Amino acid sequence: MAGINIIKDKCVGCKACMGACPFGAIEIVGKKAVITEKCTLCGACAESCKFDAIDFKRDERESSDLSQYKGIWVFAEQRYGKLKTVSSELLGKTRELSSLLKTQVTSVLFGHNIEFLAHELIAHGADEVLVMDEEWLNDFNDYIYGEAMTALISEYKPEIVLVGATSKGRSLAPYISSSLKTGLTADCTGLSIDEGGLLVQTRPAFGGNLMAEIICPNNRPQMATVRPKVFKPLEPDYKRRGKITRIHKKPIEGFVKLLKNIDNSEGQSLSDAEIIVSVGRGIGSAGNIRLAKELADVLGGALASSRPLVDMGWMPYSRQVGQTGKTVAPKIYIACGISGAIQHLAGLADIDTIIAINQDPDAPIFKVANYGIVADVKEILPVLIEKIKGRL
Ligand SMILES: Cc1cc2nc3c(=O)[nH]c(=O)nc-3n(C[C@H](O)[C@H](O)[C@H](O)COP(=O)(O)OP(=O)(O)OC[C@H]3O[C@@H](n4cnc5c(N)ncnc54)[C@H](O)[C@@H]3O)c2cc1C
Repeated sequence: MAGINIIKDKCVGCKACMGACPFGAIEIVGKKAVITEKCTLCGACAESCKFDAIDFKRDERESSDLSQYKGIWVFAEQRYGKLKTVSSELLGKTRELSSLLKTQVTSVLFGHNIEFLAHELIAHGADEVLVMDEEWLNDFNDYIYGEAMTALISEYKPEIVLVGATSKGRSLAPYISSSLKTGLTADCTGLSIDEGGLLVQTRPAFGGNLMAEIICPNNRPQMATVRPKVFKPLEPDYKRRGKITRIHKKPIEGFVKLLKNIDNSEGQSLSDAEIIVSVGRGIGSAGNIRLAKELADVLGGALASSRPLVDMGWMPYSRQVGQTGKTVAPKIYIACGISGAIQHLAGLADIDTIIAINQDPDAPIFKVANYGIVADVKEILPVLIEKIKGRL
């Protein structure tokens, strides 16, 4: 059992532990440190105490030999037999991490009638694919998938587990990390390996105003979710050889039964679009969005938006770009009446050309735009549409 105690005779009330505690869980009462109920037993205070006045014991499981955990796992997300691109993006990045760690990359594939996808995963960088091809895994269910993944991780002990930050991944990864009592960094925008061989997980913090580098030194596996389009997949190499391991387990019963799948993807997917026309509050009204939609249609692109339009119910959440929405990487991004707040820009990945239309010449979006049009978006959109139609 983990535990923490202040050794009163040794404590000099220097407050070093207060400064070291990330949770504000230490108070000084009568010149002695007191641990409050906010303590999470992270042990940061014990490391900071020069007087050995903090008696800290880690959980036995935490301090157990971490070296038995080996290899990097990527959860391969698929839907109706089609791999999500984030899986190949993660595999591409993982090749780089695995060469630094001198370890192997394993992809875990769940579903029904999906074994053929294992070759795709090997072509994209997996050394081994653990396949659970079972009828009871046909539909994603966070409890069933979470229990199955937790059991596999406990058995195989990978040191790193990466999951795409899709809606499914965002529900699966926390299930696994809380079951295994390990850390999870959500929505990472960068991954690297430090000198000690730990996974450094980079993600925006404090509303996107700074980038935090997070490590998980005491628990395994080290877990992270990564947004689609953050990493580039490798060119698939279909001659690459890898191992396919078929695993069969007793079916896991879920509490929720899926009765019917309803496809709610409206229009072209943002992740696949080469051109995105994105609307912001400057569009003025829900009715005016049709102008941006028409521009997207004539260009063969997809329609997206900033968050306020989603909050006002003018656009569905599935179309939101930004820190709390989707990350997109089209060739051309046309921002119509979008100010360019940092949380919106966080969703713009590797974009060749950004075109901004804004009536305010000082709008921050112009700092990142390749081309800027200072104009009323409601006036300029019909002109653009007519010009483009005239060229088709
Ligand atoms: C934790 C957190 C997460 C967030 N996540 C996201 C996110 O995922 N995505 C996101 O987008 N935002 C997000 N936000 C909100 C973000 O901070 C901004 O408030 C938001 O991006 C602003 O949206 P906007 O540019 O459409 O609106 P505004 O900032 O109001 O900008 C409207 C722009 O339109 C221009 N304009 C007005 N009228 C016209 C006109 N007639 N013609 C041309 N231009 C015109 C204005 O000059 C202005 O620049 C988040 C905020 C927080 C705190």
